[in-house]
Amino acid sequence: MTLKLLCQHSLRSYNSFAVDVRAQCFVQLSKDTQCLEVLKHAQQQNLPIWVLGGGTNLLLTQDVPALVVHMATRGWRVLEETESVLLVEAAAGESWHEFVLWTLLLGGQGLENLSLIPGTVGAAPVQNIGAYGVELKDTFLGLTALDFYTGQWCDFSWADCHFAYRESVFKQQPNRWLITRVRFVLKRQGSLQLGYAALRERLEYLKIQQPTALEVSQVICSIRQEKLPDPKVLANAGSFFKNPIVSKTKAAKLAQQYPGLITYPVSRTEVKLAAGWLIEQAGWKGFRDGDAGVHRLQALVLVNYGTASGAALLSLATRIQQDIWQRFEVLLEIEPVVF
Ligand code: FAD
Ligand code: NAP
Repeated sequence: MTLKLLCQHSLRSYNSFAVDVRAQCFVQLSKDTQCLEVLKHAQQQNLPIWVLGGGTNLLLTQDVPALVVHMATRGWRVLEETESVLLVEAAAGESWHEFVLWTLLLGGQGLENLSLIPGTVGAAPVQNIGAYGVELKDTFLGLTALDFYTGQWCDFSWADCHFAYRESVFKQQPNRWLITRVRFVLKRQGSLQLGYAALRERLEYLKIQQPTALEVSQVICSIRQEKLPDPKVLANAGSFFKNPIVSKTKAAKLAQQYPGLITYPVSRTEVKLAAGWLIEQAGWKGFRDGDAGVHRLQALVLVNYGTASGAALLSLATRIQQDIWQRFEVLLEIEPVVF
C-alpha cells in the first residue's frame, strides 16, 4: 500500500469557499498508477469515491462520507507538432492557468481567453469551462479517465463528453470517472476571439490593434484581477449561477417591463440573460447575512466573509433564486457542484 490515507481530514483549505467540513477518508494522488489502488481500497472499505481538484467550483454543505481523492498529478507534453497545429496533453492535477501559459509560450492558440480560471486541468472538462466567448470544447481533443463503476480505463472523444454550456457527461454523473489526462488541439495562427466588450475596450485603450494570443491572455488576466475577488482574500467559487437561457418571446416581454434588460443571442428562438444583471436589479448586490453575502461589485459571486457554513451559503442562494423567480419568472440554476 503506497497510499497515505488521512481520516476525518478537514477540507477547509481544499475548497475556495473555505467551508470547514471533513472527509471521512482523504488521499492525495500524485501518480496515475495509484488510481486503481484507490479504487481497490474504496471497494475493500465499502466507501464511495469523491473526486476533488482545486475545490474552486464546489459548495460543501456537509461532511463528506466518502474516500475523497485529491488529484495532484503533474506534467504536460507535446504529443504532435505540425506547421499549423500543436497537440498537447496535461495531467489532471496541473494548475489550469499554468498549463494555459505553457501552451501560449509554445506558440499555441486557443486557450488564451480561458486564462486565470482557477482550478485543475482535470476539472476543466467537467463543466466545459468558459470565459470571454471561448469554451474548453472549442480546442478539446480527448481525455483519459478511470471508470470507477467498471474499473476500466477509457478514452473519451469530443462527442463522448456531451459538452454543453457549463455542462458535460462528467457533471451529469459526478464521481463516476476519474479524469487523469486531457488533450487539446491548438492552432499556431488564426483569428482570435475578441468579441466580448470588456476585452475589446481594454485592447483599444492599450492601443493594441492586432494582439497576439499572449497579449489577449495578459489583458484578460488584468481584467479578471481587477473585477473578481481572489478566493485567497475573500472566499468564493466564482459565478454562483449560470446565465439563464430563455425564449425570445419571454425576453421581449421582460424587456417591456425592464428596458435595460441585457440579452445575448443563443439561437433562432432563444437568448441568454445576464444572471448578474437580474440579481443586481433585485437589490441583492452587496447583501450580507452573517458571513454569507453577495459580492459588492459582482452580483453573480457569493462570498464567505469568514465562517459561513455551506448550508448558510446555500440558503442565501435559495433566497436569491426564489426572489428572481418571483420578480422575473426566470429560474436561476446553480453553477458549482453542491454537496
Ligand atoms: P473542483 O471544484 O475541485 O471540482 C469541481 C467538480 O469537478 C467536482 O464535481 C469534482 O468532483 C469534479 N472533478 C474535479 N477534478 C476531477 C477529475 N480529475 N476527474 C473527474 N472529476 C473531477 N469557471 C468557468 O467556467 N469560467 C470562469 O471564468 C471561471 N472563473 C472563476 C473565477 C473564480 C474566482 C473562481 C473561484 C472560480 C471560477 N470558475 C470559473 C469555476 C472553477 O474555477 C472551474 O469550474 C474549474 O474548472 C474548477 O476546477 P477545480 O479543480 O477547482 O474543480
Ligand atoms: P461580463 O463581461 O461583465 O458579461 C456579463 C455576462 O454577459 C457574462 O456572464 C457573459 O456570459 C455575458 N456576455 C458578455 N458579453 C457577451 C457577448 N459578447 N456574447 C455573449 N455573452 C456575453 O462578464 P464577467 O462577469 O466580467 O465575466 C467575463 C467572462 O468570464 C464571462 O465569460 C464569464 O462567464 C467568465 N467568468 C466565469 C466565472 C465562473 O465562475 N463561471 C467567473 C468569472 C468570470 P458568459 O458567462 O456566458 O460568457
